Amino acid sequence: MTKGSLYIISGPSGAGKGTVYDEVVARRPSIKKSISVTTRAPREGEIDGIHYYFKTMEEYQEMIAHGEFLETAEVYCNCYGTPKAPVLEMLDKGYDVMFEIDIHGAKNIKKQYPDAIAIFLMTPSFEILEERLRARGTESEDSIRRRLRAAKGELSKYKMFDYIVFNDNKEKAIDEVVSIIDAEKRKIKNNIEEINLILESKKK
Ligand code: 5GP
Repeated sequence: MTKGSLYIISGPSGAGKGTVYDEVVARRPSIKKSISVTTRAPREGEIDGIHYYFKTMEEYQEMIAHGEFLETAEVYCNCYGTPKAPVLEMLDKGYDVMFEIDIHGAKNIKKQYPDAIAIFLMTPSFEILEERLRARGTESEDSIRRRLRAAKGELSKYKMFDYIVFNDNKEKAIDEVVSIIDAEKRKIKNNIEEINLILESKKK
């Protein structure tokens, strides 16, 4: 059986990562979500254990002390981290795992797993990103400015990513991410066992 692969979706706030992530995972059942831990308060409709594991800062620090994270980062004044055990368990069962994490988390995962496939999701321009952040209506002017500044820094780190998907159209962006995953599945290096099985069966 092919070993599970790791996929990272990263990109600036407002690029539409969450929506793309949900849809891609829904379309490819072999991919499991990594549910992050956060110290930020749940937003309306968010459920503990589904969207995030919501923890107090004290509980979070305890998890750090016990080495329970694969990576952890501070994003806009809150802590976010990827719990290690579920990821290792899912990989062990042969599932692929997908992370929706910030750029620091992406860098950290890539360092530990150089074969992880990192996809950068971006709007076609900073102007469109600004429009989307404003349309969300959840950010203050200050927060919009901060997110736009951060977005410039994030895009300038493009070299650490394997793919870039421009989210000018949600359906197209989802299709493109799914195509990337499907193409990765067909890479020779991910099919060695299957190829050898066919070769072996021919000998008999
Ligand atoms: P939000 O609070 O809007 O759900 O997420 C804020 C940011 O934190 C997003 O950029 C999201 O990708 C990132 N994020 C969510 N979970 C994790 C995680 O486990 N690790 C890291 N490094 N970033 C995360």
